Amino acid sequence: MLKTHTCGELRAEHAAQTVTLAGWVNRRRDHGGLIFIDLRDRFGLTQIVANPQNEAAYKVMSDLRSEFVVQIVGKVRARPAGSENPNLETGAVEVEATEVKVLNAAKPTPFYINEESNVDETLRLKYRYLDLRRERMKKNLVLRHNVTSFIRKYLSDKGFIEVETPILFKTTPEGARDYLVPSRVHPGKFYALPQSPQQLKQLLMVGGIERYFQIARCFRDEDQRGDRQPEFTQLDMEMSFVQRDDVMNLIEGMFTALVESVSDKKILHKPWPRFTYAEALEKYGDDKFDIRFGMEIQNVTPVTQGSGFRVFDDAECVKAIVAPNCASYSRKQLDELVELAKTMGAKGLLWAAVGGNTEVKSSFGKNFPEEKMKTLVRNLNAKEGDLILLVADSSSAAGSVLGKLRVEMADRLNLRDPNVMAFCWVIDFPLFMWNEEEKRWDPSHHLFTSPLPEDIPLLETEPGKARGAQYDLVCNNYEMAGGSIRIHDRKLQEKVFQLIGLPWEVAQERFGHMLEAFEYGTPPHGGIAPGIDRLTMLLAGEPNIREVIAFPKSQQAADLMAGAPSEAESHQLKELHIKLADGV
Ligand code: ASP
Repeated sequence: MLKTHTCGELRAEHAAQTVTLAGWVNRRRDHGGLIFIDLRDRFGLTQIVANPQNEAAYKVMSDLRSEFVVQIVGKVRARPAGSENPNLETGAVEVEATEVKVLNAAKPTPFYINEESNVDETLRLKYRYLDLRRERMKKNLVLRHNVTSFIRKYLSDKGFIEVETPILFKTTPEGARDYLVPSRVHPGKFYALPQSPQQLKQLLMVGGIERYFQIARCFRDEDQRGDRQPEFTQLDMEMSFVQRDDVMNLIEGMFTALVESVSDKKILHKPWPRFTYAEALEKYGDDKFDIRFGMEIQNVTPVTQGSGFRVFDDAECVKAIVAPNCASYSRKQLDELVELAKTMGAKGLLWAAVGGNTEVKSSFGKNFPEEKMKTLVRNLNAKEGDLILLVADSSSAAGSVLGKLRVEMADRLNLRDPNVMAFCWVIDFPLFMWNEEEKRWDPSHHLFTSPLPEDIPLLETEPGKARGAQYDLVCNNYEMAGGSIRIHDRKLQEKVFQLIGLPWEVAQERFGHMLEAFEYGTPPHGGIAPGIDRLTMLLAGEPNIREVIAFPKSQQAADLMAGAPSEAESHQLKELHIKLADGV
């Protein structure tokens, strides 16, 4: 090794030892004849001092610049009384350099490595290797490693084995577009990169593996929005001979232990609450939501009906939330809130502010009987100082807008404590969603999710009413995992293909191997796939998943450092039997 100790290692008890350190110059300071540098490696910082009496070392030290890579031999000594740095793990000591060697010089970097200043993300991604030297990224990557090592150990102890599955495969749909890879050996044919290892893990169950996991890369060619990445990582898992509760309980136990081991976040509810999909939509307007605070959506249609106020009477439904301590909003603030609701998809937003003596000031009071207003306030349990926000629309549209406003108001009221993780489960999803454009059923999870056993007969009569054996894990307004008990019977799988309008020949071509496998003794099985990026993001308190990925793509799905995607050489295209369309 080019070093005897790391830069985070030396303590007072090392005093008088001669050590060799190697790392990057984090900062250099000249102080009345002495030169100091903070030497940095992944493990910490150590102060190095050069004395002019040691001419050679002093000379090299004077020429050092930030980010030079150096090796330093020197003697550890206690820092002079009063100059210790309690904020630094090595702050009790410094190393007096006797030899200093530059291993590699460095150009001035495009941004400072040694301070947490706000750097434009494009620049950070272009020079990601420099960004990774900064404290924030280093901490996040260490955390990510701790997350995956914890998972590997926990699951191995429970009899799971990690199995790698191919990246070059066949379409494994999860509702996105496939990334295709042209085959040179088979002209005109393509591999598809797996959107998840879904089929493969099910085939591992047919293969008798019983307990499988993989820290798996998934590829989905989706329009890039928010915190999506074209490739991302899931903890992919599958178990045989299990029911829904078995998978959910395993995840609940593992996540609880994980969060408590790798972070200081608090888990709000134990055990985790469970909501049916219908309940989730009713209370939160969405199937991903935040239960760190209340402010649930309430249906007030029974009160508003027949008031003579057209906006209420003409709507399918009127729903409301009650924002505490917001009754004092000014007219301007209220107008802004109405505009904001419109950007969230509302046709309009009505408000009622509850004052003293149950006096109510509202945007619709003139058109709404006073008695009904009193009942509304009472039914909503609104108190003095509360602001009632109402949306009149279809049930789902009203829920969706209020679900978003609920989060907005909670942010304004500081009700979303970043140190708290509020996990909950959503179950009893409909197996299918109606695709109005294509006039057919779409699977609400994926093609392989089993209906609840008691709902199987509904596939013949009312498929829209059948519930899937699906479970989603939700935390702090994010979907953290989705999974299900699978179909393991060929006939049932064929029935689902038929309901979603997959022609028999296409089903055979794409999934014939699955159907065939189901005829050779397939155990009942189920699994789940928590997103590793999102979990790490929440644990790190970061605003998006790019912050916890070493080399992420930009929001335009590009690698800004290497410049990918890029054009292929014409001979490569020829070998792949590909001709680009005119104008490309
Ligand atoms: N393959 C599913 C997904 O990626 C997860 C699962 O059903 O296990 O969402």
